[in-house]
Amino acid sequence: MERVHSIVIGAGVVGLAVARTLARSGREVVILEAEERFGSVTSARNSEVIHAGLYYPPGSARARLCVRGKALLYDFCARHQVGHRRCGKLIVAASADELPALRTLQAQAAACGVHDLQWLDAAAARALEPALQCEGALLSPSTGIVDSHALMRALLGDAESHGAMLALRSPVLRGELSADGLVLEVGGETPTTLLAREVVNSAGLQAPALARAFAGLDGHHVPRAHFAKGCYFTLAGRSPFSRLVYPAPGAAGHLGVHLTLDLGGQARFGPSFRWVDQINYTVDEAEAEGFYAAVRRYWPALPDGALRPGYAGVRPKISGPGEPAADFRLDGPARHGVPGLVNLFGIESPGLTSALAIADEVMSLLA
Ligand SMILES: Cc1cc2nc3c(=O)[nH]c(=O)nc-3n(C[C@H](O)[C@H](O)[C@H](O)COP(=O)(O)OP(=O)(O)OC[C@H]3O[C@@H](n4cnc5c(N)ncnc54)[C@H](O)[C@@H]3O)c2cc1C
Repeated sequence: MERVHSIVIGAGVVGLAVARTLARSGREVVILEAEERFGSVTSARNSEVIHAGLYYPPGSARARLCVRGKALLYDFCARHQVGHRRCGKLIVAASADELPALRTLQAQAAACGVHDLQWLDAAAARALEPALQCEGALLSPSTGIVDSHALMRALLGDAESHGAMLALRSPVLRGELSADGLVLEVGGETPTTLLAREVVNSAGLQAPALARAFAGLDGHHVPRAHFAKGCYFTLAGRSPFSRLVYPAPGAAGHLGVHLTLDLGGQARFGPSFRWVDQINYTVDEAEAEGFYAAVRRYWPALPDGALRPGYAGVRPKISGPGEPAADFRLDGPARHGVPGLVNLFGIESPGLTSALAIADEVMSLLA
């Protein structure tokens, strides 16, 4: 049986960031990825927004890791020539009864350490984005966009330059606690067994199922997985907006159908929100009607026929329908009692923004 110091399971943006941080600390690191490409699951199916950290309860891991992760991410992108833009975003009250929700959001953001939000009346908002219909808006100047694939390539490149190795088509099937560490059974074309002193379970949607397959870890420490699908529609033609546009937060507990841009200026709308039992990534064209209605609340001039089915992603949730939104869970030995093991559960949005801060926290959990 081969011995490795540290194994990271999953080569999404979080696993790659963790692997890079561990490798930079001088550890021997192997990344095991089930798919034939890295970063091809949730990390390839999101809005690519660098979130400012407005939406999460003050004191939560999501708030803390988003605010810190944002700063680390802008710095990393600048130093590694990863495409990104601090384009800013407007959160808009489409009707007067949504204005109080913006005030609440501004206060919550301040409590999370985000003090740069600017209150705009309707005229000031329209001066920035003439196509916009609103009664008022908040401008978040530190929100941005990032090329998520370029980011993952850069994280992997930096990890590899510090000695990390990526093994594709290497699904971890199960694990077992031993006196020397965790024994992992790896499937794929050349099945193998590895013994690692440290294991980070960063398997995204599959992290809870995988943790249940670790003999020696009390199942009591593994949350139930829930999946919430989100579809995107892209805009045919040029976007009239140069900033991201989000609706005022509603009671639904997700961010609503917002407008994001990629670095080429292409606009997309989404993601919608639907609980699902099975993971699939087909975009249901019947959702288009709901998208037109949601977008026309803040962009009434959206032309008929302008929305094209885009792509879909699935949120790796650990709270289900009707339950309060769960926080990120970075479960280290102090929580579950297994030395050298960190399970990352419920790393949904803003996981892309938070990845580098999560990596630092995983390091301290292992220290
Ligand atoms: C619709 C949507 C929109 C979002 N928008 C944003 C946004 O704009 N900004 C933001 O900050 N965040 C956003 N997020 C959140 C962000 O995309 C995720 O938090 C982040 O991508 C999670 O990365 P990850 O590495 O944990 O998971 P993943 O990218 O899913 O990576 C997990 C990896 O583990 C592998 N794996 C699974 N099981 C095994 C196994 N047994 N053995 C080996 N490998 C395995 C998978 O193949 C996969 O490659 C969004 C999420 C969704 C769903």
